[in-house]
Amino acid sequence: MQTKTSISKIVLAQPRGFCAGVNRAIEIVDIALELYGTPLYVRHEIVHNHHVVNDFKSRGVIFVEVLDEVPDGARLVFSAHGTSPEVLERARARGLQFIDAVCPLVTKVHLEIARALKLGKQVVYIGHKGHQEVLGAMGYAEQDRDILLVETVEDVEALLPELKDSPLVVATQTTLSLDDTAKVVAKLKESFTDIEFPKSDDICYATQNRQDAVKELAKIADYILIIGSKNSSNTLRLLELARKLGKQAELVPNPDEFEFNSRHCEDGGRNNPGIVVGISSGASAPEFLVETLVSKLGAKQVETLEYKEEHVEFPLPLELKKINL
Ligand code: SF4
Repeated sequence: MQTKTSISKIVLAQPRGFCAGVNRAIEIVDIALELYGTPLYVRHEIVHNHHVVNDFKSRGVIFVEVLDEVPDGARLVFSAHGTSPEVLERARARGLQFIDAVCPLVTKVHLEIARALKLGKQVVYIGHKGHQEVLGAMGYAEQDRDILLVETVEDVEALLPELKDSPLVVATQTTLSLDDTAKVVAKLKESFTDIEFPKSDDICYATQNRQDAVKELAKIADYILIIGSKNSSNTLRLLELARKLGKQAELVPNPDEFEFNSRHCEDGGRNNPGIVVGISSGASAPEFLVETLVSKLGAKQVETLEYKEEHVEFPLPLELKKINL
């Protein structure tokens, strides 16, 4: 049986948790529920957190993956990750009443891609295959090879023979690892001459700030806990980062089921009976999960490590603003 290990201090990374895009997407579903009631459909998880999704399910929201599951005449919200133009067009053609809760920073990337394709350029998109945001962005390609997806330096090397002299435009998923993406970007710069990168970084402010805050946390914490769901890209990048920085780190999707004990210390806690636990949370993880974890861990001292203040807010979609007047 594992013994309990005493925690001398908990340090909370700041910023952590909800970003402006997630706040906005959740508010959109809340307002839509209030205005229109149920049934209300949401295509894909509104944000990648099962606590948020389960709360909406308990209030009557129906989550679907494909448009065909939405009945004619129903109300629908599209998720924060962005939706391909083809799916939006099908929703319009069917006369569905929908609100697009795409994050404005994802829209910015979509616009960059659309502009490049209109100019006849080849788009190289850095992202994780299969992620919902990537599916939405890749949906801007009219033909399969209009947008080429790369994840690694090796993927870039594989593009070399065919694209050596083509004009290229690079776009990225918003929730990538800053360090890993920098390596892919460096390889693209070195390999291609006629290549354009986004004017401001596609990787969003929230992803950058949460990763930078975890770097600071790793300087003082013995063990790092990252709160968030397994399918949340920005959350997984925080976990990877903590581990790359040489820390023992663990994903905590459900804080109320979490136990901290001797397995969390390299030496079983023998030589370090009072350890410092660092906590951060992904951009889609609600703050009550942090509070639950802190109270479960029961440390005497809880501090916040302030890396940066965030004051970003995005306006609601016009159709909701008008109704809310
Ligand atoms: S993580 Fe960034 S891109 Fe994604 S919803 Fe939040 S602010 Fe928008």
